[in-house]
Amino acid sequence: MLDLLLPPQCLTCDAPVADQGGLCAACFSATNFLNGPACVCCATPFSYPGEGGAGRICPHCAEAPPPWRQARAALRYDEAARRLILPLKHADRTELAASLATMMTRAGAGLLEEADVLVPVPLHPSRLRARGYNQSALLARSIGRRSDVPVISDALVRLHPTRLLSDLTEVEREAEVKGVFAVRRGRRALLADRRVLLIDDVLTSGATSAACARVLLAAGARSVDVLVAARVPDPRQR
Ligand SMILES: [Zn+2]
Ligand SMILES: [Zn+2]
Repeated sequence: MLDLLLPPQCLTCDAPVADQGGLCAACFSATNFLNGPACVCCATPFSYPGEGGAGRICPHCAEAPPPWRQARAALRYDEAARRLILPLKHADRTELAASLATMMTRAGAGLLEEADVLVPVPLHPSRLRARGYNQSALLARSIGRRSDVPVISDALVRLHPTRLLSDLTEVEREAEVKGVFAVRRGRRALLADRRVLLIDDVLTSGATSAACARVLLAAGARSVDVLVAARVPDPRQR
C-alpha cells in the first residue's frame, strides 16, 4: 500500500527501483564496492593482485602498523559513495544507514564473525545535539541487528569537538585527535578482554580509528578491528 503511494526510489537519484533501499542500475554500476585485493590492515585497495606480498600489507602499514588489527571497507570513497554517505551525515537521510549497513555487513563478514561487541566512533555532544543522531551509531545498530553482535553505542566519548579532519594533513590529524577520545566510565567492564569491532562512516588517514583503538586497548579490550562504510583509497596521494 505504501509502495503504491510512494513508489520506491533509488537511494541516490530519482529513478524508480523495484525495492525500497536499493540502487538503480546506473547508480549501482557507478558504485565501487571494495571486494578486490586490499591491505588487510588498513583496507587500502591494491592496484594489482599480489601487491602487498604474502602478508597482504601495504607499505604504509608495514612501516608503521596501526594499533588496530584489521580493517574492512564496503566502498571506495568516491563521488558515488559520497552520495550515500554525505546525506546520512548532513541531510537527515537516516534511512541510508540501513542500506550502508547491509553493504558493511557483507564486506565485514569475517571481522563480524570474530567480534564480541560493536562500538561506534562517537560524536562530541555539541555535534550530536546539532545533528540529532550519530551516523556511526546508526550504522553500528543496523549492523548489530543483521549480524547478532551486541552494540555498545556509548562505550566511547569524544571529550573535545574537533575540526574537520578532511582539511588537515596527516600529522595535523594525529595532533587534532590526540586525547580526544576516552572510554566511558561504567563501560570498561563490558570491554574487558572483548574483541571490539569499531564502526565508522569513512576511513581516511586512520587517525580517528587509531585514537579510538588506543583507548579501547588501554581499557582492556583484547583486540580492535575496524569496519567502515567507505575507504579513501590513499589519502597521501590526494
Ligand atoms: Zn540511481
Ligand atoms: Zn595498509
